[in-house]
Amino acid sequence: MNIILLGPPGAGKGTQAQRLEERRGMRQLSTGDMLRAAVKAGTPVGLEAKAVMERGELVSDEIVSKLIDAELAAMGEGAGAIFDGYPRTEAQARSLDGILALHGRTLDHVIELEVNEDALVERITGRFTCANCGAGYHDVFKQPAVAGVCDKCGSAEFKRRPDDNEETVRTRMAEYRAKTAPILPVYEARGIVHRIDGMADIDAVSEAIAEILAS
Ligand code: ADP
Ligand code: AMP
Repeated sequence: MNIILLGPPGAGKGTQAQRLEERRGMRQLSTGDMLRAAVKAGTPVGLEAKAVMERGELVSDEIVSKLIDAELAAMGEGAGAIFDGYPRTEAQARSLDGILALHGRTLDHVIELEVNEDALVERITGRFTCANCGAGYHDVFKQPAVAGVCDKCGSAEFKRRPDDNEETVRTRMAEYRAKTAPILPVYEARGIVHRIDGMADIDAVSEAIAEILAS
Protein backbone atom coordinates (compact mmCIF):
# COMPACT_ATOMS: atom_id res chain seq x y z
CA MET A 1 0.00 0.00 0.00
CA ASN A 2 1.25 3.48 -0.91
CA ILE A 3 -0.26 6.62 0.59
CA ILE A 4 0.22 10.37 0.66
CA LEU A 5 -0.21 12.31 3.90
CA LEU A 6 -1.19 15.82 2.94
CA GLY A 7 -1.58 18.88 5.11
CA PRO A 8 0.09 22.17 5.98
CA PRO A 9 3.27 22.34 8.08
CA GLY A 10 2.53 21.11 11.59
CA ALA A 11 -0.60 19.19 10.58
CA GLY A 12 0.85 16.00 12.08
CA LYS A 13 2.10 14.17 8.97
CA GLY A 14 5.47 13.18 10.43
CA THR A 15 3.92 12.12 13.75
CA GLN A 16 1.48 9.81 11.99
CA ALA A 17 4.07 8.53 9.52
CA GLN A 18 6.34 7.46 12.41
CA ARG A 19 3.43 5.54 13.92
CA LEU A 20 2.63 3.83 10.62
CA GLU A 21 6.26 2.78 10.37
CA GLU A 22 6.14 1.25 13.85
CA ARG A 23 2.71 -0.33 13.59
CA ARG A 24 2.45 -1.40 9.96
CA GLY A 25 6.02 -1.72 8.76
CA MET A 26 5.48 0.99 6.16
CA ARG A 27 8.29 3.39 5.21
CA GLN A 28 8.12 7.15 5.69
CA LEU A 29 9.49 9.07 2.72
CA SER A 30 9.88 12.65 3.90
CA THR A 31 11.49 15.00 1.40
CA GLY A 32 12.02 17.46 4.26
CA ASP A 33 14.07 14.86 6.16
CA MET A 34 16.01 13.97 3.00
CA LEU A 35 16.78 17.64 2.33
CA ARG A 36 17.87 18.25 5.94
CA ALA A 37 20.20 15.25 5.68
CA ALA A 38 21.63 16.70 2.45
CA VAL A 39 22.14 20.10 4.12
CA LYS A 40 23.90 18.44 7.06
CA ALA A 41 26.13 16.40 4.76
CA GLY A 42 26.95 19.46 2.65
CA THR A 43 26.08 17.75 -0.64
CA PRO A 44 25.43 19.87 -3.77
CA VAL A 45 21.68 19.37 -3.24
CA GLY A 46 22.06 20.47 0.38
CA LEU A 47 24.01 23.57 -0.60
CA GLU A 48 21.32 24.55 -3.08
CA ALA A 49 18.43 23.81 -0.72
CA LYS A 50 19.71 25.38 2.52
CA ALA A 51 18.79 29.03 2.00
CA VAL A 52 15.47 28.17 0.32
CA MET A 53 14.46 26.03 3.29
CA GLU A 54 15.50 28.72 5.76
CA ARG A 55 13.14 31.12 3.99
CA GLY A 56 10.31 28.57 4.05
CA GLU A 57 10.05 28.50 0.27
CA LEU A 58 9.92 25.40 -1.92
CA VAL A 59 13.01 23.64 -3.23
CA SER A 60 12.92 22.86 -6.97
CA ASP A 61 10.58 20.16 -8.22
CA GLU A 62 13.43 18.43 -10.00
CA ILE A 63 15.54 18.04 -6.85
CA VAL A 64 12.79 16.60 -4.66
CA SER A 65 11.45 14.25 -7.34
CA LYS A 66 14.96 12.87 -7.86
CA LEU A 67 15.28 12.28 -4.11
CA ILE A 68 11.99 10.37 -4.04
CA ASP A 69 12.92 8.29 -7.08
CA ALA A 70 16.26 7.34 -5.51
CA GLU A 71 14.64 6.38 -2.19
CA LEU A 72 12.04 4.20 -3.88
CA ALA A 73 14.75 2.52 -5.93
CA ALA A 74 16.76 1.83 -2.77
CA MET A 75 13.68 0.49 -0.95
CA GLY A 76 12.95 -2.22 -3.46
CA GLU A 77 9.59 -3.98 -3.28
CA GLY A 78 7.80 -4.98 -0.11
CA ALA A 79 7.19 -2.14 2.31
CA GLY A 80 4.46 0.34 1.51
CA ALA A 81 5.47 3.98 1.12
CA ILE A 82 4.12 6.94 3.09
CA PHE A 83 4.79 10.14 1.18
CA ASP A 84 5.19 12.91 3.76
CA GLY A 85 5.71 16.43 2.44
CA TYR A 86 5.73 15.26 -1.17
CA PRO A 87 4.20 16.01 -3.63
CA ARG A 88 3.89 19.74 -2.90
CA THR A 89 3.18 21.10 -6.40
CA GLU A 90 1.22 20.01 -9.46
CA ALA A 91 4.51 19.24 -11.26
CA GLN A 92 5.60 17.00 -8.37
CA ALA A 93 2.23 15.20 -8.42
CA ARG A 94 2.74 14.44 -12.12
CA SER A 95 6.31 13.27 -11.46
CA LEU A 96 5.09 11.01 -8.68
CA ASP A 97 2.71 9.25 -11.08
CA GLY A 98 5.62 8.49 -13.39
CA ILE A 99 7.96 7.46 -10.57
CA LEU A 100 5.38 5.10 -9.04
CA ALA A 101 4.72 3.48 -12.42
CA LEU A 102 8.45 3.03 -12.90
CA HIS A 103 8.71 1.20 -9.59
CA GLY A 104 5.57 -0.90 -10.16
CA ARG A 105 3.59 0.84 -7.43
CA THR A 106 0.14 2.42 -7.33
CA LEU A 107 -1.25 5.13 -5.10
CA ASP A 108 -3.97 3.82 -2.79
CA HIS A 109 -4.97 6.74 -0.58
CA VAL A 110 -4.41 10.47 -0.19
CA ILE A 111 -5.17 11.43 3.39
CA GLU A 112 -5.62 15.11 4.08
CA LEU A 113 -5.19 16.24 7.68
CA GLU A 114 -7.55 19.18 8.09
CA VAL A 115 -6.31 21.66 10.65
CA ASN A 116 -7.00 25.11 11.95
CA GLU A 117 -4.15 27.32 10.80
CA ASP A 118 -4.16 29.34 14.01
CA ALA A 119 -3.11 26.22 15.93
CA LEU A 120 -0.23 25.42 13.62
CA VAL A 121 2.13 28.13 14.82
CA GLU A 122 1.82 26.76 18.37
CA ARG A 123 2.39 23.22 17.13
CA ILE A 124 5.44 24.14 15.11
CA THR A 125 7.14 26.45 17.54
CA GLY A 126 6.80 23.74 20.26
CA ARG A 127 8.15 20.94 18.08
CA PHE A 128 11.43 19.15 18.85
CA THR A 129 12.94 15.80 17.93
CA CYS A 130 15.40 13.33 19.36
CA ALA A 131 18.83 14.16 17.92
CA ASN A 132 19.71 10.46 17.90
CA CYS A 133 16.67 8.61 16.51
CA GLY A 134 14.46 11.40 15.14
CA ALA A 135 11.42 10.63 17.33
CA GLY A 136 9.11 13.65 17.34
CA TYR A 137 7.90 15.51 20.44
CA HIS A 138 6.12 18.69 21.48
CA ASP A 139 6.63 20.99 24.48
CA VAL A 140 2.94 20.72 25.41
CA PHE A 141 1.21 18.06 23.31
CA LYS A 142 3.71 15.22 23.30
CA GLN A 143 6.33 15.36 26.02
CA PRO A 144 8.70 12.46 26.63
CA ALA A 145 7.47 10.14 29.43
CA VAL A 146 10.60 11.06 31.43
CA ALA A 147 11.56 14.71 30.96
CA GLY A 148 14.74 15.10 28.91
CA VAL A 149 14.96 11.43 27.87
CA CYS A 150 13.81 10.07 24.51
CA ASP A 151 11.05 7.42 24.92
CA LYS A 152 12.38 5.40 22.03
CA CYS A 153 16.16 5.33 22.36
CA GLY A 154 16.98 6.87 25.75
CA SER A 155 19.06 9.69 24.30
CA ALA A 156 19.16 12.98 26.22
CA GLU A 157 19.92 15.08 23.15
CA PHE A 158 17.14 16.88 21.34
CA LYS A 159 17.04 19.41 18.54
CA ARG A 160 14.79 22.03 17.01
CA ARG A 161 14.55 22.96 13.34
CA PRO A 162 15.91 26.37 12.31
CA ASP A 163 12.84 26.91 10.10
CA ASP A 164 10.38 26.25 12.96
CA ASN A 165 9.96 29.92 13.81
CA GLU A 166 6.79 31.97 13.44
CA GLU A 167 7.92 34.07 10.47
CA THR A 168 9.06 31.10 8.38
CA VAL A 169 5.98 29.12 9.32
CA ARG A 170 3.79 31.85 7.84
CA THR A 171 5.69 31.61 4.54
CA ARG A 172 5.44 27.81 4.59
CA MET A 173 1.68 28.04 5.14
CA ALA A 174 1.33 30.50 2.27
CA GLU A 175 3.31 28.14 0.04
CA TYR A 176 0.98 25.30 1.06
CA ARG A 177 -2.15 27.29 0.25
CA ALA A 178 -0.84 28.56 -3.08
CA LYS A 179 0.98 25.53 -4.46
CA THR A 180 0.09 22.37 -2.55
CA ALA A 181 -3.65 22.60 -1.80
CA PRO A 182 -4.39 22.91 -5.56
CA ILE A 183 -3.12 19.36 -6.20
CA LEU A 184 -6.03 17.83 -4.27
CA PRO A 185 -8.56 17.97 -7.14
CA VAL A 186 -6.27 15.75 -9.23
CA TYR A 187 -6.57 13.01 -6.62
CA GLU A 188 -10.24 13.76 -5.90
CA ALA A 189 -11.00 12.96 -9.53
CA ARG A 190 -9.50 9.53 -8.90
CA GLY A 191 -11.70 8.99 -5.82
CA ILE A 192 -8.79 8.37 -3.42
CA VAL A 193 -8.95 11.44 -1.16
CA HIS A 194 -9.97 11.08 2.51
CA ARG A 195 -10.25 14.06 4.83
CA ILE A 196 -9.73 13.64 8.54
CA ASP A 197 -9.77 15.94 11.53
CA GLY A 198 -6.14 16.79 12.22
CA MET A 199 -7.16 18.83 15.27
CA ALA A 200 -8.17 15.70 17.15
CA ASP A 201 -5.62 14.25 19.56
CA ILE A 202 -2.75 12.19 18.18
CA ASP A 203 -4.33 8.79 19.02
CA ALA A 204 -7.66 9.75 17.46
CA VAL A 205 -5.93 10.83 14.25
CA SER A 206 -4.07 7.49 14.16
CA GLU A 207 -7.39 5.66 14.54
CA ALA A 208 -8.97 7.61 11.70
CA ILE A 209 -6.01 6.73 9.47
CA ALA A 210 -6.18 3.05 10.49
CA GLU A 211 -9.86 2.98 9.46
CA ILE A 212 -9.02 4.36 6.04
CA LEU A 213 -6.24 1.85 5.51
CA ALA A 214 -8.58 -0.98 6.50
CA SER A 215 -11.27 0.17 4.04
P1 ADP B 1 4.18 17.85 10.07
O1 ADP B 1 5.04 16.63 9.82
O2 ADP B 1 2.85 17.79 9.38
O3 ADP B 1 4.89 19.15 9.81
P2 ADP B 1 4.45 17.04 12.88
O4 ADP B 1 3.97 15.62 12.83
O5 ADP B 1 5.91 17.25 13.02
O6 ADP B 1 3.84 17.88 11.63
O7 ADP B 1 3.67 17.76 14.08
C1 ADP B 1 4.00 19.10 14.47
C2 ADP B 1 4.04 19.19 16.00
O8 ADP B 1 2.71 19.02 16.52
C3 ADP B 1 4.89 18.11 16.64
O9 ADP B 1 5.60 18.67 17.74
C4 ADP B 1 3.89 17.05 17.12
O10 ADP B 1 4.34 16.40 18.31
C5 ADP B 1 2.63 17.87 17.37
N1 ADP B 1 1.40 17.16 16.96
C6 ADP B 1 1.25 16.30 15.90
N2 ADP B 1 -0.03 15.87 15.82
C7 ADP B 1 -0.70 16.48 16.84
C8 ADP B 1 -2.07 16.44 17.30
N3 ADP B 1 -3.00 15.69 16.68
N4 ADP B 1 -2.39 17.20 18.37
C9 ADP B 1 -1.45 17.96 18.99
N5 ADP B 1 -0.15 18.04 18.62
C10 ADP B 1 0.22 17.30 17.56
P1 AMP C 1 9.07 19.73 5.84
O1 AMP C 1 10.08 18.94 6.62
O2 AMP C 1 8.15 18.87 5.03
O3 AMP C 1 8.33 20.74 6.70
O4 AMP C 1 9.92 20.57 4.77
C1 AMP C 1 10.88 21.53 5.18
C2 AMP C 1 11.29 22.39 4.00
O5 AMP C 1 11.95 21.55 3.01
C3 AMP C 1 10.16 23.07 3.24
O6 AMP C 1 9.78 24.30 3.82
C4 AMP C 1 10.79 23.25 1.84
O7 AMP C 1 11.71 24.32 1.82
C5 AMP C 1 11.60 21.95 1.69
N1 AMP C 1 10.79 20.86 1.08
C6 AMP C 1 10.46 19.67 1.66
N2 AMP C 1 9.74 18.91 0.83
C7 AMP C 1 9.61 19.62 -0.33
C8 AMP C 1 8.96 19.39 -1.57
N3 AMP C 1 8.27 18.25 -1.80
N4 AMP C 1 9.05 20.35 -2.52
C9 AMP C 1 9.74 21.48 -2.31
N5 AMP C 1 10.36 21.78 -1.18
C10 AMP C 1 10.30 20.87 -0.16
